Amino acid sequence: MVEQPKSLRVLIAGAGIAGLATAISLARISSVAKIDVQLYEQAPELLEIGASIALSPNGMRTLEKLGVHNALSDEVGFRGPGGIPQIFRHWKTDQVVSTDTHADVSDPRHYTTRFHRGHVHSALLEHVPPETIHLNKKIKRAEARPDGVSLFFEDGTDVHGDILIGADGIRSSVRQSFIPDYKLRFSGKVFMRATFDASLVEGKIPNLPADSIHWWGPKDNFFASRLGKNQYTTVGAYDDPRSSEELERTIAWDQLGNVEFLRNRYKDWNPTVRALTELTPSTNLYPNFAGDALPTWVFGSRVTLVGDAAHAHGGAFAAGGSLALDDSLALGLAFKHIFQGATFSIENIEKALRLYSQTRQPHTARLLRIVHDQIDRKATTFATSEAEDEALVARLKGRPDTVWLSEHDVEAAFGVVAQGSHDAGAQRVGEELKTSGAIQLEPSKL
Ligand SMILES: Cc1cc2nc3c(=O)[nH]c(=O)nc-3n(C[C@H](O)[C@H](O)[C@H](O)COP(=O)(O)OP(=O)(O)OC[C@H]3O[C@@H](n4cnc5c(N)ncnc54)[C@H](O)[C@@H]3O)c2cc1C
Repeated sequence: MVEQPKSLRVLIAGAGIAGLATAISLARISSVAKIDVQLYEQAPELLEIGASIALSPNGMRTLEKLGVHNALSDEVGFRGPGGIPQIFRHWKTDQVVSTDTHADVSDPRHYTTRFHRGHVHSALLEHVPPETIHLNKKIKRAEARPDGVSLFFEDGTDVHGDILIGADGIRSSVRQSFIPDYKLRFSGKVFMRATFDASLVEGKIPNLPADSIHWWGPKDNFFASRLGKNQYTTVGAYDDPRSSEELERTIAWDQLGNVEFLRNRYKDWNPTVRALTELTPSTNLYPNFAGDALPTWVFGSRVTLVGDAAHAHGGAFAAGGSLALDDSLALGLAFKHIFQGATFSIENIEKALRLYSQTRQPHTARLLRIVHDQIDRKATTFATSEAEDEALVARLKGRPDTVWLSEHDVEAAFGVVAQGSHDAGAQRVGEELKTSGAIQLEPSKL
């Protein structure tokens, strides 16, 4: 066995859900004994911020594999009665038009679960040694050289390591350091999100559904659900015709919105939605941006990306949290596959990062294609409101099946890629041997 001469120093940029999950995965899944993982986060404190976040069965299974059992309890997250992920209702009539179901989920703890984002973040935080998280470290740029990686911070300091993982969100400065002209585009939608104590609405609205409900209207939707820890969420949206540049200048992510605007926007909807907007105490604004699939996820043989930094899909299908968790698991598995008994050479580092990206890039590129098709789709105009309504009901009933996303088995996907790379590696070695004339091998032995 080859000696591992020193420890592997991994720098993680960002301590959001992707960054924390990656730190946990590298510590627990990779089985690399001599690994030193350090996280660098711009925030001065890690507070419970954000609004609601949904984790699908893929994300819930991954939490369990990572050993984050504290996030699986019914106290922290909310699962719909009867295990229904969500129900789709008509905006005006309040009639149920279609229902999401799980395809193959046997453990109820893995059913789609809704949280306050801060509670998922806190659950992960309990598994990361606090001394490895460096706060108040806003990254300005990143660098990769044959002998290592560096992060440069706004406070003038820098750090160095063997591998860099950009987990710094949709506006990743790590990604921008390697693809400077990468641009996000505004999807045209601004979400108005709120989380508040469930007692503000429960028992106050007649027939308030116990399930998570998505009401679909001709142009916009409205979402409401209970969350874990007695929280409740409402989410509305509006179209904003302004350009990406203007939006970036005028609305900050998480900026306080005007709750009267929300109420006015939904004033003609069914009584349950109207009552929910009346009782929503305040809203925060989240302009929805997305970016193209990246040409590569491996930079300078030593750098990769996880979470929103790697796939800027915006809020599509509420998939961000689960995708980030699956990224982290795939990366841990790739480290385990490559580094067991092997050196931390630049070749092995690149092999591990490529195995990871080959597992995750095609899956997330499929989602990004759907996201951009939706943004590009032109609004249809209808001659009558009846025709518009018929089209809406048809759209609701014909919603695309997203089980490939919500029940994706990242471990199985990794297995296929790892096996393929093993076969390809064996074949390459065999071909090299054959062409060098060193040995004649039968194809079945390659
Ligand atoms: C404050 C906040 C609130 C959110 N609220 C919601 C929500 O309510 N609902 C929802 O569905 N999704 C929300 N999201 C997005 C959601 O967390 C992600 O889509 C998903 O969990 C994937 O997470 P991520 O770790 O890749 O990205 P993020 O959650 O965006 O985490 C990225 C982390 O990197 C840090 N970071 C960014 N730039 C730098 C830099 N230059 N230097 C150092 N650190 C940096 C950020 O502060 C953050 O902690 C929120 C994200 C943030 C940051």
